[in-house]
Amino acid sequence: MVSEAANAGIDRVLWTEAEIATRVAEVASELAADISRLAEPAVVVGVATGAFLFLADLVRRVDAPLTVDLVRVESYGDGTESSGRPRVTADLKVDVAGKHVVVVEDIVDTGNTVSCLIAHLQKKGALSISVCTFLDKPARRTVDFQLVGGGKFYRGFECPDSFVVGYGMDYAELYRNLPYVGVLKPEMYSKKTDN
Ligand code: 5GP
Ligand code: MG
Ligand code: MG
Repeated sequence: MVSEAANAGIDRVLWTEAEIATRVAEVASELAADISRLAEPAVVVGVATGAFLFLADLVRRVDAPLTVDLVRVESYGDGTESSGRPRVTADLKVDVAGKHVVVVEDIVDTGNTVSCLIAHLQKKGALSISVCTFLDKPARRTVDFQLVGGGKFYRGFECPDSFVVGYGMDYAELYRNLPYVGVLKPEMYSKKTDN
């Protein structure tokens, strides 16, 4: 609950649980309309771990046939800056060759992760690649990734240039369970955690 945000070390809440639910439902309708026009089920690929709540909320609102799989792409250590060299550290189980793929991300920041994933999925023969991200931080983009085969870019909210946590997103593997998105109090970054 947002009234407890201060106790969780949150400086300011950017989107409440209710605001997130409303927006996710809108994005889901847009996605559902596009997916239901396809000749065969789309493959929705969530990027672990950050996208797990968005993925869960999104797909249960898409009333169209689809497959769900997960991929893990890592570039961050425990800090707030990307190393800039993402790697696929856990691959898909589903075969995406000849399939319409929708990558579901928590946040597109520099664009490195999405760019790496698009290349990875293209190598596997995906027919089209769309990206559906909960947050988009265009101010920090350094990689101009290209969607494939008429794929679309869907986004929940445009995010200011601050490091955010909650609704799946972590700092040092904490805060993913917060139902809202917020900016941490500066003193939380310097606190050492046990993991
Ligand atoms: P990119 O490769 O686009 O720079 O970053 C992509 C990934 O970095 C995101 O999917 C997310 O996992 C992580 N990331 C980027 N910005 C933030 C942020 O503000 N907060 C958190 N918790 N993770 C972020
Ligand atoms: Mg991510
Ligand atoms: Mg992270």
